[in-house]
Amino acid sequence: MEKISLEENSRIIDIEKLDFEENAENSLRPTLWEEYIGQEKIKKNLKVFIQASKKRGECLDHILFFGPPGLGKTTLSHIIANEMGTSIKVTAAPMIEKAGDLAAIMTNLSDGDILFIDEIHRLSPAIEEILYPAMEDFRLDIIIGSGPAAQTVKIDLPKFTLIGATTRAGMLSNPLRDRFGMSFRMQFYGVNELAIIAQKASIKLDKPLDEDSANEIAKRSRGTPRITLRLLRRVRDFADVAEEETINLSTTKYALNELGVNEFGFDELDLRYLSILADAKSRPIGLNTIAAAMSEDEGTIEDVIEPYLLANGYLERTAKGRIATQKTYRFLHIKPSHRNPQGLF
Ligand code: ADP
Repeated sequence: MEKISLEENSRIIDIEKLDFEENAENSLRPTLWEEYIGQEKIKKNLKVFIQASKKRGECLDHILFFGPPGLGKTTLSHIIANEMGTSIKVTAAPMIEKAGDLAAIMTNLSDGDILFIDEIHRLSPAIEEILYPAMEDFRLDIIIGSGPAAQTVKIDLPKFTLIGATTRAGMLSNPLRDRFGMSFRMQFYGVNELAIIAQKASIKLDKPLDEDSANEIAKRSRGTPRITLRLLRRVRDFADVAEEETINLSTTKYALNELGVNEFGFDELDLRYLSILADAKSRPIGLNTIAAAMSEDEGTIEDVIEPYLLANGYLERTAKGRIATQKTYRFLHIKPSHRNPQGLF
């Protein structure tokens, strides 16, 4: 009995911790273009499309954002809603299990509203089928009952904009992808951009950060604003305990080292991944083998770990599997094998 209640307690604490992190993230979420740093090309295009649709008094065409987690897809969607002067309903594909779930969300929308579906590649084929006419003709065709007694009920919907976000554009079915009028690939952020994000957030948190500390956090953020903000909050904890008014470089470096984030921004998972690749002695190694060796889910490896390493030249993806590059061997101070002295094929 006692064990169960202890476990329950720890789950409650976990959930509270999650909520706390999420709230902290929401409080730092930019709501205006000026506060949204980087992704200049996407911003420039979106501003034109928003202006044009406002001028015509139409609702915005459906939008697809793809890219690794934490790069600002949800934030961008909130800014779009703000600019369009509409409200945004946020949901995620795993929460839409039945046709009725989708119908309930859509019939509650108002004209011009934005519906944001995160992880849209995870919609079931049956739900996708219902989404097509909703996106094209703003109509829901729902089948009620089964067999000869089955009936199709058509429900007219308000004109809305669907914004889909996905970490895996490749997993989206073609018919669904074709129904988005615009699609944008999110880019990893540069160190300068992340340093600005860190500095602005530190002011919001009432704990200013000097320029060197902002750069240090930025360098170790894997090109990702969500990581910048997470590191900033942890560094702030160290500064608070040390009773410092502003965050300085030595506290920042100390805190980041304590957190196990190295100078390249690689955390423990990245390092394990890279050493598994290097241990394969330049032979291609399959995703499932890496996942088993790391006791991690394949999805996490593909969505979270690999994109940054790939973008920075630490791995190559071939039809046969993943291979370490010369940069990986240099980073790990390991010599490539004789079979493949370059560490490349
Ligand atoms: P995604 O939806 O791609 O997973 P989010 O939009 O939730 O990412 O972004 C994660 C956090 O990073 C947000 O809380 C936001 O405050 C911050 N963020 C993301 N992109 C930017 C940006 N371009 N400028 C400033 N802050 C950003």
